[in-house]
Amino acid sequence: MIRPILLSIAFVLTLGPAAGGPRSKPSFRVLAFYTDKGEPDHIMFARQALGFLSQAAERDNFSLESTTDWEELNPRTLKRFELIVWLNDFPKTPGQRTAFAEYMERGGGWLGFHVSAYNDEDTRWPWFVSFLGGAVFHGNNWPPLPALLTVDDQTHPVTRHLARTLSAPANEWYIWKPSPRLDNDVKVLLTLDPANYPLGLKDTITAGDLPVVWTNTRYRMLYMNMGHGDQIFTSKEQNRLFEDAILWLGSR
Ligand code: ZN
Repeated sequence: MIRPILLSIAFVLTLGPAAGGPRSKPSFRVLAFYTDKGEPDHIMFARQALGFLSQAAERDNFSLESTTDWEELNPRTLKRFELIVWLNDFPKTPGQRTAFAEYMERGGGWLGFHVSAYNDEDTRWPWFVSFLGGAVFHGNNWPPLPALLTVDDQTHPVTRHLARTLSAPANEWYIWKPSPRLDNDVKVLLTLDPANYPLGLKDTITAGDLPVVWTNTRYRMLYMNMGHGDQIFTSKEQNRLFEDAILWLGSR
């Protein structure tokens, strides 16, 4: 069912005129999809992320809307936005998936966090696996833990404000098999430092290449594994990474 966008968007966070005068036209428009059902730690992240994004929108002059209605993943809505963000879920119906794939194939922008890239043998969306650079979910650590990340390329617009390493706040880290690094079109920007192994108490990741942030250079996209729990936005450096990612994707 297609409903008018203003009725179906659960929270409209577009910022009104700033005090003291009208805002200039936003330089790009962002629509964030999330879910408020299921894993509480993922919902908590999404809510905090919306707060973070709305502040970034004000600082950086982009517009932000958000919705829990994944039916908004349709051509009519998508064409209004330069950047789509998935905070903690992914589309399940053929119509939503096709609309997203066509949007990306035509140069749309995407930033995905954490479980938004999750896929296994039941997901049955080969286009999406290829879009991610072949990454299929293989395992995770539990409980969520902080981790040391290495910056693969400090000259990239997304990582240029980071040092050689980043101490990332507690997160549930995913390892992918195959690793997206094996795809020649993938550029990995941050990687879990192997010095973290063994990582976890109940569920432990003991070895393996674990890219955390990467882009498939065939698309205007970036995936970030962060997104579990209420600690994600406690690092100034990591927050800067998130903001630089939005600006890179939104302004290209
Ligand atoms: Zn999680």
